[in-house]
Amino acid sequence: MKERLYTAAKPTGRLTLGNYVGAVDNWLKMQEEYDSIFCVADLHSLTVNIDPKELRDNSYAVMANYLACGLDPNKCTLYYQSQVPAHTALCWLLDCVTSMGEASRMTAYKEKAQSNKNVSVGLFNYPMLMAADILLYDAKYVPIGEDQRQHLELARNLAIRFNNKYGETFVVPQGVYQKVGAKIYNLQNPTKKMSKSDFDNSGNILLEDPIDVIKQKIKRAVTDSDSKIIYDPENKPGVSNLLSIYSVLAKKSMKECEAFFDGKNYGALKNEVSDIVIATIEPIQQKFMYYMNNKDEIEKIATQGAERIEAEADKKVKLVKERMGLIF
Ligand code: AMP
Repeated sequence: MKERLYTAAKPTGRLTLGNYVGAVDNWLKMQEEYDSIFCVADLHSLTVNIDPKELRDNSYAVMANYLACGLDPNKCTLYYQSQVPAHTALCWLLDCVTSMGEASRMTAYKEKAQSNKNVSVGLFNYPMLMAADILLYDAKYVPIGEDQRQHLELARNLAIRFNNKYGETFVVPQGVYQKVGAKIYNLQNPTKKMSKSDFDNSGNILLEDPIDVIKQKIKRAVTDSDSKIIYDPENKPGVSNLLSIYSVLAKKSMKECEAFFDGKNYGALKNEVSDIVIATIEPIQQKFMYYMNNKDEIEKIATQGAERIEAEADKKVKLVKERMGLIF
């Protein structure tokens, strides 16, 4: 039997090149090897203040991009988080074994809370909902970017604590991180994560950006006043970010990339990155348009996906309730 893998992206915006390089590229290989579940985490999107129409559009777009990138409903399960009520049920049960102290230490929450006055309880609860997503399905592997490492650690701790207190109930999940590209940075501010939730997208490449916009964004990417093309994230964050993108998409090791660019200038690096990004994104965009024009197909795929896993999720919630002493 194949081992279980679970991961998700939240439709707070449109997928970026960071999502592709840091996550989806890896998922494509993994769907061949694992019993994979790829979720569109629409409930997680409600943790930020999002307009219903925007959420609906983004939710179709993220699933359309999953399919356009090559996630195949015949090989994996694709669905929307809100289609399976067990996620929120388990979230509450896990809330009650999470301490305020450990939840308050989550850096993603602290960063978002600092820059936003109207922080919701949902945003605070985000990591426990993510833990529920993963633990519901006995996922052994969770491929994620660096930004989610702390949340995954919390999910592991909750699983271990629950098992110790109530008896073996959850599989303790392992995070799977890309060696290169686990964190792709904003092209204008290469110490900040490339994010789909930004107001200003000048440093973020969206998978749906027109080709000439992608070229411009890469051309304007911030580098440094040196001229050496080497991977040195601390001293050369901009160049290292471009090298990471190139390395993942060209499927070359960082050593091979450095050798390839040895003696070349930053203009050449940007041209090569631009070419490989466009060669990757252009075919995805054509398929993306197909799905966006056939939303009924998206709905059918997601409904079939949800139906496939719903019974398993309900069974897990029932077991957790029993273990905790609830009668129903
Ligand atoms: P999110 O964008 O938070 O919905 O995350 C979807 C997946 O993409 C998660 O596995 C993230 O860790 C990953 N991810 C998001 N942004 C980046 C980035 N800038 N670089 C690498 N991985 C990312």
